[in-house]
Amino acid sequence: MNIHEYQAKEVLRRYGVATLKGKVADTPEEAVQAARDVGGSLWVVKAQIHAGGRGKGGGVKLAKSLDEVKALAGQILGMNLVTHQTGPEGKKVHKIFIEQGCNIQKEYYVAALVDRATGRVAMMGSSEGGMDIEEVAAHKPEAIKKIDVDPVIGLGVFQARRLAYEIGIPAANVNKAAQFFMALYKAFVETDCSIAEINPLVLTKEGEVFALDAKMNFDSNALYRHSDIVEMRDLTEENPTEIEASKYELAFIKLDGNIGCLVNGAGLAMSTMDIIKLHGGTPANFLDVGGGASREKVTAAFKIILKDPNVQGILVNIFGGIMKCDIIAEGVIAASKEVGLKVPLVVRLQGTNVDLGKKILAESGLNIIPADTLTDAAQKIVNAINKR
Ligand code: ADP
Ligand code: MG
Repeated sequence: MNIHEYQAKEVLRRYGVATLKGKVADTPEEAVQAARDVGGSLWVVKAQIHAGGRGKGGGVKLAKSLDEVKALAGQILGMNLVTHQTGPEGKKVHKIFIEQGCNIQKEYYVAALVDRATGRVAMMGSSEGGMDIEEVAAHKPEAIKKIDVDPVIGLGVFQARRLAYEIGIPAANVNKAAQFFMALYKAFVETDCSIAEINPLVLTKEGEVFALDAKMNFDSNALYRHSDIVEMRDLTEENPTEIEASKYELAFIKLDGNIGCLVNGAGLAMSTMDIIKLHGGTPANFLDVGGGASREKVTAAFKIILKDPNVQGILVNIFGGIMKCDIIAEGVIAASKEVGLKVPLVVRLQGTNVDLGKKILAESGLNIIPADTLTDAAQKIVNAINKR
């Protein structure tokens, strides 16, 4: 789960990560009030969307007076912000963050993340802050430094100091930076993050260290122990179909093809998409209903697929292990009757109660094309779509 920059800073502050004063606003009037509350004479007006690269896209602007804050707020609120992370369609800005401005001496990069190769948390840092870290990794990989953290001992102060030295933080400021990294690591671990990225971390002309930007992503399997973070979820930032799917704990990802897939198990879902491609089709989604899905869950999943206007055919491919084939059959029928089935439907069932499942489908009166093998199923759905 993602949260906004202003929320990430709120979380980080609780762990002692240094941030500048800032306030969120929904209207230009609120923005002016926020700037007054924050104080000072220099502010940054920042679009709050779940995507990076806002600065380049015109979503981060400096204001030198309250009038300027108001004008920029009016300009940024409601704008469709296009960045390299939003895709060409962009994202509408609903909220802005008014933050104190600061005198930047140098921008750095620092992140805590899960390193799958070592199976440990790693702290990553770079002297090349402010820009896209993927660019740095591609063109100047030696500028990225990494420290592996022992899960039992945690991040050692000596490691934090080493990272600070390695990315070129001046000796006089190393202690402050190390303190910052320690706090960031603590926040990462205690809130069950999958990534906590500060880009840029800045050293100011006054010798202070601050998180100027903050991105936090949380492991959804651990959200049950962070109700305060769950409350920060902003549904306007998410794909509506994926929100609907998450209500039923379905692993759903929208794709751009025309064959809806309903499968159990991520591996089977991947191979189903592969075999559709092999036979000349393109999947409209990835959908894993999981191992022990109930009839309600299958019905919800099927409805989600049927509502996609791009779907011209559906392939249900289920292996009845823990989940029984008759439950799937009932779910498919219930959803088809409720939403109306106007596209060809190929169903391949194998495993527990397969005969009962097939019988229920055959007797449903719905126009269902049965298939026996995976190849058979893929060929049948591709042919059915081509015939329409
Ligand atoms: P994004 O990564 O989405 O472009 P950032 O928050 O990193 O957004 O802001 C982009 C740039 O704007 C930063 O690299 C920094 O140079 C500048 N900036 C952001 N916040 C401030 C601030 N409070 N004071 C001064 N400059 C800032
Ligand atoms: Mg940034």
